[in-house]
Amino acid sequence: MKQSVKMIVGNWKMNGEVGGLAELEKLAARLKSDPCRVDVAVCPPATLIERMRCLGQPAAIAIGGQDCHTEPQGAFTGSISAELLFEAGCEFVIVGHSERRQAFGETDTLVSNKAAAAIRAGLTPIICVGETLAQRQAGEAASVVRAQILGSLSDGLAGQDWALAYEPVWAIGTGLTPTLEQIEDIHATARAAIIERLGVSGRGTPILYGGSVNPANAQDILAVAEVGGALVGGASLKAADFLAIIRAADAAFVAADAQG
Ligand code: PEP
Repeated sequence: MKQSVKMIVGNWKMNGEVGGLAELEKLAARLKSDPCRVDVAVCPPATLIERMRCLGQPAAIAIGGQDCHTEPQGAFTGSISAELLFEAGCEFVIVGHSERRQAFGETDTLVSNKAAAAIRAGLTPIICVGETLAQRQAGEAASVVRAQILGSLSDGLAGQDWALAYEPVWAIGTGLTPTLEQIEDIHATARAAIIERLGVSGRGTPILYGGSVNPANAQDILAVAEVGGALVGGASLKAADFLAIIRAADAAFVAADAQG
């Protein structure tokens, strides 16, 4: 089977004052002068979405939200709906990030409802799953990830309407990463769980890896079987680092394509 283009998604979290847009402009300029076959998206704080679009929203960089509510509108102070994100210019939204699961008590059911809301609004949800360090040490990584996938997918989801991000909690923002074999194992588990839940259409779902991806490790990680891209936190804030990861994804695509 031909390898499809990789997806590289930056998650700025609660970072990125207006000054952060300069990094985005640098990135856009580099991608324009030297294009590559990678689907690139950035998920800035909601306050920057409109400004990103006004920058001319370089076509090479799609915009995503970092979370959405399940309802389209209403009395939900502080929340943002998938419809509002869509109207602001987003194409993607991250749901079920471990920081939201842990700090805001988000359950698989809520994540599944958020993913359904995203699809209703015309967005592509990126559903995050991943085990804690204690779960990994107890040998439960695969079963935890499988259960999260089965619980976080909404009925009627079609394989290419969404993406999965496997993000071990202990690897996020720590500089630690699983071994390439561990990544391959969990991505295989994830693929099997997606197909179990959605049927054969689940073969087309991109599965991203996330957790301390940086310019030095990106090429190896992106070459692992079933790794369809990366969700990148810290390293997405600096144009040079993010660009190096995007170039690594392009190189992984070219290498896989050459092997047929
Ligand atoms: C993330 O928060 O989704 C993430 C992967 O962060 P980092 O790359 O900084 O580990």
